[in-house]
Amino acid sequence: MYDIGIIGGGTAGMTAAVYGQRAGKKTLIIEGGAFGGQITSSPNVENYPGIASVSGSEFSMNLLDQAMKLGADTVTEQVTGIRDEGGQKVIVTAGKEYSCKSIILATGVTHRHLGAPGEERLTGAGVSYCATCDGMFFRGRDVAVVGGGSTALQDAEFLSNYCKKVFLIHRRDGFRGEDSIVKRLREKENVEFILSATVKEIVGEDMVEKLILNHKKTGEESELPVSGVFVAVGQIPKNEIFADTVKLDADGFILASEDCITSHPGIFAAGDCRTKEVRQLTTAAADGAVAALAACKYIAE
Ligand code: NAP
Repeated sequence: MYDIGIIGGGTAGMTAAVYGQRAGKKTLIIEGGAFGGQITSSPNVENYPGIASVSGSEFSMNLLDQAMKLGADTVTEQVTGIRDEGGQKVIVTAGKEYSCKSIILATGVTHRHLGAPGEERLTGAGVSYCATCDGMFFRGRDVAVVGGGSTALQDAEFLSNYCKKVFLIHRRDGFRGEDSIVKRLREKENVEFILSATVKEIVGEDMVEKLILNHKKTGEESELPVSGVFVAVGQIPKNEIFADTVKLDADGFILASEDCITSHPGIFAAGDCRTKEVRQLTTAAADGAVAALAACKYIAE
């Protein structure tokens, strides 16, 4: 019987494990894929307090190491459901069940797709959702990044170091991401902004060959020859399997406020998977701490 079962091994989940273990609680983190979460794709994190600059993968590996050295158990299994049996809560995976006194849902979010024709078919053949993972394959080539948030800006900056040309395509004139990166990108000779434009189609037989763009202001279409397109148009939650147990909002985020308390006693939500205004590395870490301490309080009651 674990005191705290944590679903999701990203920043929120791993921070919850650090706080849980330090409070003397037996803690388990269950991760369906690779530990580290979303931040592992960030080439350079520059806005975490006290750390001027660190790669996302180094940050997350340090955090995992910290949680494990404190005694947290980790397993890599896909969670298929949770249930409350009154005296205990159960986390169900493909082959096993884990009994816990409390559960923290820290499932994060997944990549939103553009929904453009050609996108699914050419994923892995020029369409990518991770510049740090796949950018090297496009060394010396022309690529496009789609999106206007921090991820798109960071991706464009990262790719500009390897690619011949980077086109940053955004559906509006204004960016959601940080001005400081926009400024740096404007100074790069091999970065070109294509604003107020959307991707109508991704074209290519076996590999991406070009994009068909729609220009919102003129209503015109144009073709953009590129070898790769990096889609960075935001994130969507993946909480359907918990919908019978905790309340979700209309967009699928777990309803919980800054106290990380969900609609179900003893089940907490931390990080990007819950309803919140600001989804940042710092707020994910903060949620991990808040949820773990709330779980400790619940167990003691
Ligand atoms: P985001 O901030 O939600 O930005 C998504 C971007 O994609 C927006 O510019 C949006 O346009 C655009 N978009 C959405 N749907 C689209 C569509 N169907 N077609 C074309 N464009 C579309 O997502 P994100 O950049 O992945 O960032 C997610 C969160 O992580 C944010 O809070 C961000 O600050 C944080 N983050 C932090 C770091 C870090 O280093 N600490 C790094 C990366 C991300 P509109 O602007 O018009 O809505």
